[in-house]
Amino acid sequence: MLMKADFQTRDAHFATTVKESIGEVWDDLDGRIEVLQREPPFEPFGEEEATVLAMSQWFKYDFMTWVDPIKCPKCQGETRFAGMATPTQEEKEMGGDRVESHRCVICQTERRFMRLNEARSLLTTREGRCGESPSRP
Ligand SMILES: [Zn+2]
Repeated sequence: MLMKADFQTRDAHFATTVKESIGEVWDDLDGRIEVLQREPPFEPFGEEEATVLAMSQWFKYDFMTWVDPIKCPKCQGETRFAGMATPTQEEKEMGGDRVESHRCVICQTERRFMRLNEARSLLTTREGRCGESPSRP
């Protein structure tokens, strides 16, 4: 598969991280491609289009979690934005130079939310909302 080779030649460590994080997609990809090719969403629609679409659908709907609104980690209740927080050392190391603080309206638990642009960190958190855009490694 072309993308596997690209990952390996660009950055072997990043490729390992990606494979460890999203390994299941490679096993399931052929089945997803077959389903898309049976009912192509547009024409012309070849294997390359099916592969890209299958991977992007898996990434968007299965791998990542859309977190808007941000829910309370303790009770899943609604939170309200409470301002920007000072990043911890761990958050800074993950590329979270901007960290939002959200406070639960029910139990007052704080939910910190890093605004990330680091692909490696996004592979760890697997969540985002409008604005998370991985930069190249
Ligand atoms: Zn709560």
